[in-house]
Amino acid sequence: MTLQEKDEAYLWHPYTQHKTAKPPIVIAKAEGALVWDVEGKQYVDAIASWWVNPFGHSNTFIADAIYKQLTTLEHVLFGGFTHEPAIQVAEQLLEMLPGNQKKVFFSDNGSTAVEVAIKASLQYFYNKGGFRKTIIAFEDAFHGDTFAAMAASGISLYTQAFKGMFIDVVRIPVPVQGKQQASFAALKNAIAENQCAAFIFEPLVLGAAGMVMYEAQYLDELISICKANDVLTIADEVMTGFGKTGKNFACDYLKEQPDAICLSKALTGGTIPMAITTFTQQIFDAFYSDDINKALFHGHTFTANPTGCAAALAAFELLRSKETQHNLWRITEYHRRNSGRLGNHPKVKTLRILGTIMALEIKTEGESAYYGELRNKLYDFFIQNGVILRPVGNIVYVLPPYIMPDELLDQVYDVIYRALEEVA
Ligand SMILES: *Cc1c(COP(=O)(O)O)cnc(C)c1O
Repeated sequence: MTLQEKDEAYLWHPYTQHKTAKPPIVIAKAEGALVWDVEGKQYVDAIASWWVNPFGHSNTFIADAIYKQLTTLEHVLFGGFTHEPAIQVAEQLLEMLPGNQKKVFFSDNGSTAVEVAIKASLQYFYNKGGFRKTIIAFEDAFHGDTFAAMAASGISLYTQAFKGMFIDVVRIPVPVQGKQQASFAALKNAIAENQCAAFIFEPLVLGAAGMVMYEAQYLDELISICKANDVLTIADEVMTGFGKTGKNFACDYLKEQPDAICLSKALTGGTIPMAITTFTQQIFDAFYSDDINKALFHGHTFTANPTGCAAALAAFELLRSKETQHNLWRITEYHRRNSGRLGNHPKVKTLRILGTIMALEIKTEGESAYYGELRNKLYDFFIQNGVILRPVGNIVYVLPPYIMPDELLDQVYDVIYRALEEVA
């Protein structure tokens, strides 16, 4: 059997309807912003492998750090034990994050980072002798695929089979242009009518919804409404974290600071699955007690895995480097200078940019079934032309590894332009 045949025989892929999906492409190796399949065909990774890879594939600086850690202390349980890599990750991360973040809780992926934040918010009020059971989230939000994260997510395609089985969530509109007042009013209303523990949001960009963007000042307003009403705020920076928006964190654009921050994706430079939820001292203190029942009873077998921590430390060093900070600026500028040709194309409805993210919306004639068809035609065209892009419905976005040189960005922009001409 070929690898593809064996894959079909043994594997179940994410977000995949196996009956109708084309067989997956078998990838053999990757370097920098490029990946190659087993037949030697080259692809430009224009979405950083689902937003995880800022510094390029097979990065030897991170690989060396991982090897060194693997041959010193590969793993040790984190209950009752600790280790220097985890302590350093916490110390360095808190230095980079908004000043009110004081405690670092490790888990395994973006969904668990969100799960931890939601559980801690609910228990925070329980520990203080209250009872709150409702979470507030944006319409079309995406927070992951475990149960509480799924409950907070508004993309119905992912969650419809589980309707009625979720914790209580009230949805409010995203404060995009023209919706700001409706968003503020819905938040106030949600707080007045429910026992709300927390408001969870993707700051400034809703990734899975199709890179939907809104301005920092409106998020500041939403956060201050929560603060005035004693509702906790959770920034899900799983996608936006570590430079994507042009600053290290999307929260760096805010005047207000959230009570908790969820991180994963680029945390280890796209190498080892790991996640972190950070909290304020105030939240931590509600769990700090002589009463064992007030502890946060959540953990994972591989919590704070030292190898993951070593990868994260190497990734932090790369993120802080002059070279990366220059690249963040360079890619933002590239989008600004070169996107006019795409944005002005008659088939493009809107184009938006935030930091390294560029997204454009293709004009369509209503019907969502058509979106699916168009989406697949675009995807196939990009793949045929050696560029990895995963449109969301009629939205095409680019979120490159920060090391992607201008020549490869040219190639990505060209293939999008040709798709507008030939496919859309
Ligand atoms: C990807 C993502 C998640 C889920 O992360 P996983 O590692 O896939 O579980 C959660 N929130 C946001 C904003 C994401 O982009």
